[in-house]
Amino acid sequence: MPSTPTTPHDVPQAAAWQRSQERMFSALVGLTLVASAAALALQRPHYDRLDVWALPGLALLLLTLQGLLWTRRLELPTAMRVAYVGGAAYVLLALNHQFSVLSQTSVTLMESTYWFAVIYAAAFLAFPSRAATAVTGGVLGLAALICAWHVGFTVPAATRVGLTSASVQFLLTGAVLIVLNRTIGVQHHRLMASRAAAFTDVLTGLANRRAAEERLADLAARAEAFTLVLFDLDHFKAVNDTHGHATGDAVLRGVGASVRSRLPVGGLAARWGGEEFLLVLPPTPPADVQGMLDMLRASLHAQEHGPVRGITACFGVASARPGEHPDHVLARADRAMYAAKAQGRNDVQLSEGAPRSSPLCPQD
Ligand code: GH3
Ligand code: MG
Ligand code: MG
Repeated sequence: MPSTPTTPHDVPQAAAWQRSQERMFSALVGLTLVASAAALALQRPHYDRLDVWALPGLALLLLTLQGLLWTRRLELPTAMRVAYVGGAAYVLLALNHQFSVLSQTSVTLMESTYWFAVIYAAAFLAFPSRAATAVTGGVLGLAALICAWHVGFTVPAATRVGLTSASVQFLLTGAVLIVLNRTIGVQHHRLMASRAAAFTDVLTGLANRRAAEERLADLAARAEAFTLVLFDLDHFKAVNDTHGHATGDAVLRGVGASVRSRLPVGGLAARWGGEEFLLVLPPTPPADVQGMLDMLRASLHAQEHGPVRGITACFGVASARPGEHPDHVLARADRAMYAAKAQGRNDVQLSEGAPRSSPLCPQD
């Protein structure tokens, strides 16, 4: 059995997920820049010794990461992790620094400790749940060491009891936040795994019809160009009738594996129903589709499932015309596929052009 996808990146509509993550990253970058600028503006003209270089440094790091993301020179997960390390380093330095600037009478920690809440939550966006728990545990441990060092050795005796109490409260709320974020992170992961399962065909591991319909609706909404290939296995009922349903299932799994390994980047392969499959491809010239399908047909033809070999199929190809609704493109691909059946099977028909047969896989 193919394994069920368990990460958001395996979900068939991962592109939409990726876009929403990128928007969230940009929003976080924007908010951090505003917060840093506001902090420095409020400190004017007596800038904090740490903030005067650390906040512009953090801003520069985030802007660089955003620039690399926009120019596609960096993957989003890497950008998020680098940004996270920068942010965590800043809040830890600020915690250490504040003990040296606290007045002789202050028994409370400063506002910069509020940002630890953000650091604990952001870890669960930047890392998988288990790693995020380890990372936040590490940040909390370092914060505890910094507090313990200063409360034990550097703060004046008059404020030691008050600052000990403030530090303990700060660290305990940190621990509670980590547990809460971990709980939410685990639930979120389960939700994503269920969503992935809901969009996956159990037998072949390809996207299912629901996922393909969602992709078509997305293409319609964005009026993007695309190419569809609809194909149906030839004489598949005879496989079941002659060799049994289990062998038929093995053939379908084999078809799924062949399709997956030949799918171009950005394409979606779905089991449309029974022994019928749909490929949603980026706009692809007919000659390139033909080349890809020739390889797929050769791969299907070479498969052996017990006594079953020489698998063939009929393919209908249709590319969207400007402004054409996906339902119409699908109907054209469907007509082309049935034309291929009518030609005698084991055939590729292009909706736009003349029939195109290939002698690559002679019909059995
Ligand atoms: P054609 O060349 O005209 O496409 O003929 P065909 O026999 O492939 O098509 P037909 O529609 O007559 O039969 C399709 C068969 O696919 C019938 C059905 O039992 C089988 N089938 C559909 N889903 C599954 C499945 O999940 N597993 C198995 N083993 N068989 C399936
Ligand atoms: Mg069939
Ligand atoms: Mg069929």
